[in-house]
Amino acid sequence: MKYQNKFLLLIFCLFSLTISSCFEWGARAFENFPNETALDKTYNYDGKVIIVGAGASGLAAAKILERNNIDYQILEATDRYGGRLKKNETLADFPIDIGAEWIHNMPEVLNRLKGKKGDVIDEELTPYHLESAYSWDGKKYKEVSKKEIDFRFNFFPEYKFKHSTWYDFVNENFASEVKHKIKYNSVVTEVNYVGDKVEVKTKNGEVHTADKVLVTVSIGVLKSNSIQFVPDLSAEKKKAINAVEFLPGFKLFLKFSEKFYPDVVDLTHTKGEVVYYDIAFKKETQSNILGALFLGKSAEEYYRLDSEEKIVSDVLKELDQIFDGKASELYTGEYILENWGQHQFTRGTWVNAALDKNINVEVLNQSLQNKVYFAGEVYDVHRQMGVPGALLSGYVVIDRLLNNEK
Ligand SMILES: Cc1cc2nc3c(=O)[nH]c(=O)nc-3n(C[C@H](O)[C@H](O)[C@H](O)COP(=O)(O)OP(=O)(O)OC[C@H]3O[C@@H](n4cnc5c(N)ncnc54)[C@H](O)[C@@H]3O)c2cc1C
Repeated sequence: MKYQNKFLLLIFCLFSLTISSCFEWGARAFENFPNETALDKTYNYDGKVIIVGAGASGLAAAKILERNNIDYQILEATDRYGGRLKKNETLADFPIDIGAEWIHNMPEVLNRLKGKKGDVIDEELTPYHLESAYSWDGKKYKEVSKKEIDFRFNFFPEYKFKHSTWYDFVNENFASEVKHKIKYNSVVTEVNYVGDKVEVKTKNGEVHTADKVLVTVSIGVLKSNSIQFVPDLSAEKKKAINAVEFLPGFKLFLKFSEKFYPDVVDLTHTKGEVVYYDIAFKKETQSNILGALFLGKSAEEYYRLDSEEKIVSDVLKELDQIFDGKASELYTGEYILENWGQHQFTRGTWVNAALDKNINVEVLNQSLQNKVYFAGEVYDVHRQMGVPGALLSGYVVIDRLLNNEK
């Protein structure tokens, strides 16, 4: 009896722990969204600002500078803006988010992010409340009960854009206002803040000068030391950067002539994190696209195959095992593979900002002598996760930068 009570207590504790983590995550993040952001303020600043990186956070920060007529430039390494937001419009008859895809938050967060008052949003969203989910452990294909599906949605309510994408949201509400200030193919290699001004050097030999610099590259890029800071970052800052988990991963989208799969098949317990999911979930479409997300160890295993064709063929083999050969039979030969983990200017997928206890957000956020600042999903002090976190961090950090705060 005594042992039974202890066991029940342990179960209760584990359950409470899980629940409290859930509350901190996802939709519960909305409760931490600040009432006021840089969008609600005005700034008088007559120096020049350089933003390194045109991802969500860089674009959000730029929006504040643009609205306040402050002199700025965005240096972007690639030939496009969006960073880990990207869309494809050719594989299906609907746009596909091949980077960030879900809104791990309440729908109203979209209004807060773009500065629209009220809770009625402009975008049409689909609640990601699954109707069919299965798990696969290499041998058994097992249905997830309706009760568990409902439980997951109630604690992790997530949404997807019905007709558009995360990329469209950021394009329309952020990039459209600031894209004329982006200098593409400008790979920043050095940020020198020795003097009064900051000098930013690029791979093609250009030197740009500004009063303040906002660095928004991913934590993976910072970890790689491909940007040199002069003077060097402190040991404390380097430790904080290296402690953040930023797993490799990739997304694969396969087109089929017929749908033979459920909404989701979860393989989490076999090969690291792998999930197969119906990209066309609740879309009005004729296209059958199955998405596959590989994270961490599972992605590394596939990297060893070193060619896209081999990866696709291996994934089809696994799908054939689960679905009795249907995958190869119905595959149209069309796919997209986006390898975020090995992309030179991303070097990983996302940061689990709400759950990763190793993130020292305070040290990560410290500026370098009030001249060089850092923004992005990992610096978000309001724990919004993913795209909302990156955008909000852009607002929060540009506010500190313009107010000359640490
Ligand atoms: C596969 C995948 C799935 C995801 N799913 C979701 C999801 O469902 N929901 C969600 O909310 N979030 C998701 N995320 C996370 C989300 O995409 C990110 O949190 C967000 O886009 C990060 O924005 P950022 O501005 O902080 O960084 P980034 O988007 O990485 O932007 C940094 C920019 O800096 C540029 N850059 C890098 N190095 C240099 C250099 N040396 N010089 C100049 N420029 C440089 C890059 O090219 C890039 O444009 C996902 C991410 C991935 C990869």
